[in-house]
Amino acid sequence: MTAGFIQDELQALKSASLYRQLRHVAGDQGSTLMVDGREVLNFSSNNYLGLANHPALGKAAINAIERYGCGSGASRLISGNMTLHEELEIKLARLKGTQAALVFNSGFQANTGIIPTLVGVGDVVFSDALNHASIIDGCRLSRAKIVVYRHCDVDQLEDGLKDAPHSSRKLIVTESLFSMDGDEAPLKQIVELSEKYDAMTMVDEAHATGVYEPDGAGLISRLGLGERVLVQMGTLGKALGGFGAYIAGRAALRELLINRCRSFIFTTSLPPAVMAMAIAAIELIRREPERRRALRNNCARVRDGLLRLGYSLGDSRSQILPLMIGDANHCMRLSERLLEHGVFAQGIRPPTVPPGTSRLRITLMATHTSEQIDRALELFASVH
Ligand code: PLP
Repeated sequence: MTAGFIQDELQALKSASLYRQLRHVAGDQGSTLMVDGREVLNFSSNNYLGLANHPALGKAAINAIERYGCGSGASRLISGNMTLHEELEIKLARLKGTQAALVFNSGFQANTGIIPTLVGVGDVVFSDALNHASIIDGCRLSRAKIVVYRHCDVDQLEDGLKDAPHSSRKLIVTESLFSMDGDEAPLKQIVELSEKYDAMTMVDEAHATGVYEPDGAGLISRLGLGERVLVQMGTLGKALGGFGAYIAGRAALRELLINRCRSFIFTTSLPPAVMAMAIAAIELIRREPERRRALRNNCARVRDGLLRLGYSLGDSRSQILPLMIGDANHCMRLSERLLEHGVFAQGIRPPTVPPGTSRLRITLMATHTSEQIDRALELFASVH
C-alpha cells in the first residue's frame, strides 16, 4: 500500500483551514511565554492557579526523585504501586470527601478506560454533545449504545432515559465545567434524573478541580452532590499544575477499576516526582485560597471587558472564555494577529468544537496582573 493518502489528507486539512502545527514554547508556563521566539502574554494555558511553575512543586519533585528514584519501574499491579501513589490517593479522597481515589496516567486514559469498565454491549451511555474527545472515545470503546443529548439539555436526556431498556445498565457522562465553552452542566438535575431512572453518573471535573470555592474540590463538591455521583473524575495537569488524573468515589468502584480498567492495568504507573507534585499542589490549594479568589477576580474583569467590547462569550462565567468567531479561517487569522501583537489566545477549530463555532479560547490565571489584563483588553479591542 502506498502512503500517498498522507499528502492528500494534509492538503485537504490546509484547504479547509484545519491544518495544525506545533508552536514552540520556551520558558515556564507563567503569565508571559516565549512562543516561536516572541515574548507574549499567556492567555492560553490551563495553569489556572499558577501552580505549574510554582517552586513548591519543583522542590517536591526533586525530593521525590532523590528519595524514590526517577521511574516507577512497572504498572501499578506489578511493582509500580509506590508509596507516593497511595499517599496521593489518600489525599485526593480527603479533598473530595470520598471513601477512595485512584490515580490514572492521564485524563484521556481515565475516560477511555473507565467508561468501558462500567458499560458494554447491551447497555446505554448518555453523553453531552460537547463532551471531550476522551469521553467520546471512551463511549465508543465501550460498545454500549451511545445516546448523545443536546448540550446541557436535561429534557432530551430524560427522553432518552425513558426510552432505554429497563434491563440495561445506564450511564450518564458529562463534564462539570466544559473545556471549550466554560459553562457548567446542570449537575443537580442530571443527578436527579440518574436517580429517577436508575442510571449511573460520571462527571469529568478536568477544568473544575482546584478552581471552585470553597476548597478547590470541584463543582460536584460545591453543589454537595458528592454522595450521589458514582464517578468523580478530574485531572492533575490543569489547575493542579502537574500531570495525570484521578477518580474519586466508593472503595468498591476503586476495586473494580483496579481489576477491570484496561487503561489503568496495562500501563507503567506515573513516576514518583509526578505524584509528589500533585501532593504539593493539593496542599497549596488548601493553604492558599487567595489563588482561587484572584482567579475569580481576573475572570470577572476580563469577562466584563470583553462584553463591553461587544464580544459574545456564550454562557461562560468561568476562567474559560470562548470568544466566539465562527469561521475557522477568520478565527486562526485573528489568533495570529493577536500573537504578533503580544497576546497568545489560541484559536480552536473543528473537530475540537462543532463546525461554525470556531473561537479564541481565552483562559485566565490567578497570576495575571492588572497591567497584563489591561494590555490584553486593549489588543482585543484593536482587532475587533
Ligand atoms: N477531560 C477534559 C474535559 C479535558 O479537557 C481534558 C484535556 O486535556 C481531558 C479530559 C484529558 O486530560 P489529560 O490532559 O490529563 O489527558
